[in-house]
Amino acid sequence: MKAVLILSGGVDSTTLLYKMVEEGYEVQALTFNYAQRHRKEIDCARKIAALLDIPHRVVDIGCLAALLGDSALLGAKEVPSCHYTEEAARQTIVPNRNMIMLAIAAGYAEACEIPQIFYAAHKNDSTIYPDCRAEFVEAMEPAVRLATAWHPVQLRAPFVNLTKAEIVKMGLELKVAYELTWSCYRGEEKPCRSCPTCIEREEAFMLNGAVDPLIKP
Ligand SMILES: [Zn+2]
Repeated sequence: MKAVLILSGGVDSTTLLYKMVEEGYEVQALTFNYAQRHRKEIDCARKIAALLDIPHRVVDIGCLAALLGDSALLGAKEVPSCHYTEEAARQTIVPNRNMIMLAIAAGYAEACEIPQIFYAAHKNDSTIYPDCRAEFVEAMEPAVRLATAWHPVQLRAPFVNLTKAEIVKMGLELKVAYELTWSCYRGEEKPCRSCPTCIEREEAFMLNGAVDPLIKP
């Protein structure tokens, strides 16, 4: 069972990697450098792939940043300090990011004759980012299959109906090395604990009666 996984270096895709390894998948990981405001997640993805001995490539699509607007994730404006709200989502969205990455992953998978691509869209993200929603996955799945006619590629998003807390629960059971993951939009030495993704991450651990190793004193 060969598969390509889009690995960001954050909680969700890292948990999915562990789950896939446990299920016996022979995973190839792709991490995208889209000129995000810091490289910490990319470095984390490298360390996680090395830890699990997974073939890993960092794909540079930074040249697209100039086309993709003024997201706080691209360093164009301030990172908001609040829970995810519609406004915070608007400030942090990189338009159509998942579809762009999935299209590249599908091309890579077809070229390597790998029949499946995975990404870790989940329920929390689905309320704020359109390309994380179940409807998007349902629409994209046949599109990917039809676009890869010689060696058809199937799109899989097994976390699409799970909350981040449910993903962390699974990850704690799988003993995911969360100390090697990164989520904070700010990319300083320690998580800022005030940006939307820090707040969401901390809550997900708390709901499992656990403490995120990145913020342990
Ligand atoms: Zn943060």
